[in-house]
Amino acid sequence: MRPSDTPLIDSGALRRRVAELAAEIGASYARYEEPPILLTVLKGAAFFAADLARAMARPVEMDFVRVQSYEGASSTGTVTFLHYPESALRGRHVLIVEDILDTGRTARAIVDWLQTQELASLRLCTLLDKPSRRLTPLHAEHVGFTIPNQFVIGYGLDYDERYRNLPAIHVLESGPDRDARDT
Ligand code: 5GP
Ligand code: MG
Repeated sequence: MRPSDTPLIDSGALRRRVAELAAEIGASYARYEEPPILLTVLKGAAFFAADLARAMARPVEMDFVRVQSYEGASSTGTVTFLHYPESALRGRHVLIVEDILDTGRTARAIVDWLQTQELASLRLCTLLDKPSRRLTPLHAEHVGFTIPNQFVIGYGLDYDERYRNLPAIHVLESGPDRDARDT
């Protein structure tokens, strides 16, 4: 398996859209005194969140959550928490930062847990959205790009832990392994 020769979303488009999202998010939190907590879903969203946070004009706090979903013959996408945020979340404005919404089960489980934490507000931001795959209703207030049902890699997204460090988003294609930057 290998990255497509041409990116689906190149690094310039990512940079421009991240700047727009930062402005959009900044405007929606401008009325609050306290900075929002960007709650990043590890590992995939780490690259996006780092760029997003740096593009924000006002202060933000960073925290992280890590979950794992199991898809077995008997289980239908059970999600377990591997790492909980360290911040006290009660009374805070929390923005979940995700890399991609696919079936929506991962984000759904995180939202369901956060809804028990007495937050001041909860919003969801995802870089990528594949709405055609959704199995659970879920609304993201901030969406970077809506994409078709293709498996994508790069800019944090992996295939078997590889390709996260590609600077652009590529479609995963069949063929011999190689780096998208080799020509
Ligand atoms: P969910 O189906 O719960 O919405 O998404 C679960 C996880 O599947 C995502 O957070 C992401 O890690 C992974 N995933 C879904 N679609 C893709 C994709 O196109 N590429 C990659 N690399 N991971 C994906
Ligand atoms: Mg993810």
